Amino acid sequence: MRTSFDLTGQVAFVTGASSGLGAHFAQTLSEAGAKVVVGARRADRLKDLSERITASGGTALAVDLDVTDANSVAQAVARAEDEAGPISILVNNAGIPPRALSLEMDEAEWDSVMDTNLKGAWLMGREVGRRMVDHGNGGRIINIASVLGWRTVAKRVQSYAVSKAGMVSLTETLALELGRDGILVNAIGPGYIKTELNTEFLESAPGERIQKRVAVGRFGEPEDLDGALLLLAGPAGAYITGTVIAVDGGLTLSTL
Ligand code: NAD
Repeated sequence: MRTSFDLTGQVAFVTGASSGLGAHFAQTLSEAGAKVVVGARRADRLKDLSERITASGGTALAVDLDVTDANSVAQAVARAEDEAGPISILVNNAGIPPRALSLEMDEAEWDSVMDTNLKGAWLMGREVGRRMVDHGNGGRIINIASVLGWRTVAKRVQSYAVSKAGMVSLTETLALELGRDGILVNAIGPGYIKTELNTEFLESAPGERIQKRVAVGRFGEPEDLDGALLLLAGPAGAYITGTVIAVDGGLTLSTL
């Protein structure tokens, strides 16, 4: 049924699942019925997450993954498919924030932001995409971009914004390339979503000034992304590809 968000029988792989939104996405996909594979570099945190998912009745597998390393990506995806079955949903969530302005940044920092946020999503998309094509059952790829993929913030986060704009373009080009194989590729562009890493900043005085620019008057919670995630992952999203859904409470409507 095209109005369904049921993911029973699906295998979902979430990258960067050791904290924040990735951990939340894994739980949401599990609650919708998917078997989940959680990948990241921090094995202890992944183990805790997979135990929590299992304790609440789901099925979870934790795999070591560094999205910047093609060998690690190949090994993680192979292990996921060996132990959990063919991956039908990929959530490219792993990402790092920038730490310096453009003129102050060194090459190593530029490379680490691009390698994690953009190249990592391509490496995962390539590895999982090839297997989805071979399996012949279609699939879904969901890239976690940002509103900074199409808007900017003065004097901040340039390398991050460039990487997220690249992710939007990657979403469009992959959607075109894989559509005939039944593989739908979309992105979510979150605004400011509260997680353990940014809550202190968002509740500070600069955070309060930012909050005034959000049309609905509050920052998002991870649960606010669930509707877009399940739409893009499930039967209800069967005719959506190559698009970015902004989930930002109207932040990008703020006046210029
Ligand atoms: P987070 O730092 O808690 O999560 C990022 C995850 O990616 C971490 O678990 C980290 O360990 C993992 N990661 C980093 N490098 C990796 C690598 N090389 N290999 C594997 N995993 C790696 O932050 P978050 O807020 O949960 O962000 C998740 C995603 O959502 C990111 O892509 C971020 O850019 C995007 N996003 C977040 C917000 C927000 O307000 N929280 C807004 C827009 C976009």
